[in-house]
Amino acid sequence: CGIVGILGTHQVSPIILEALRRLEYRGYDSAGIATIHDGHLDRRRATGKLINLSDHLVHDPLPGTSGIGHTRWATHGKPTVTNAHPHRAGPVAVVHNGIIENFAELREELRGQNYGAESDTDTETVALLCQMNLDRGMSPEDAVQATLNRLDGAFALAFLFEGENDLMIAARRGSPLAIAHDGTQAFVGSDAIALAPLCDRLMYLDEGDWAVLTRDSYRIRNADGAEVTRPMVRIAETA
Ligand code: GLU
Repeated sequence: CGIVGILGTHQVSPIILEALRRLEYRGYDSAGIATIHDGHLDRRRATGKLINLSDHLVHDPLPGTSGIGHTRWATHGKPTVTNAHPHRAGPVAVVHNGIIENFAELREELRGQNYGAESDTDTETVALLCQMNLDRGMSPEDAVQATLNRLDGAFALAFLFEGENDLMIAARRGSPLAIAHDGTQAFVGSDAIALAPLCDRLMYLDEGDWAVLTRDSYRIRNADGAEVTRPMVRIAETA
């Protein structure tokens, strides 16, 4: 339902939580945040209101300056902690808005390759596919592209990778997603409102686009893999 991602300069979990609060108006049943700290991927998830996630974070803080967060509106699988995003498969964490239409076939295929799912969500198959591609020796970027090529449906996605503190990959097909960059930090958001206090300008990804972000660069590719540019818009005009 709502996506926020930040490659930042300070501990990002409180900043992501704030951004998720600005998306609360869209409705949700659970929420979660994943970060990378000292190269390690870690996550906290909670059902119900964001206050439950923030309580969890008070007792068990999530350090790290790279993170992704999500508010979920369940479509596949009950609103439980196990089904809450971010989903994780080995070194991959992913948050997802929308629906992966062919997830049942993908899930069967993945199970056959010993990539079994823990949750009932369509989203987890995205993380597992990406993990399988990494295990086959692909770079994170190639693994995401190969994963996107297998997905049917409407989605916005943001990925983080264990051991990659300076990398976030975002993709859009059928669900809105914007990226922003201020020269030292990179942002991803499903809604301009989520990013409004964090940056002045953003770029909406076009249908089929996916973006590779680091703290000092961003690159947008279209569905064919060609590098593209998208217009920069002032947030004040959109939010
Ligand atoms: N289909 C996914 C799920 O049920 C994502 C739902 C959403 O957009 O929040 O977990």
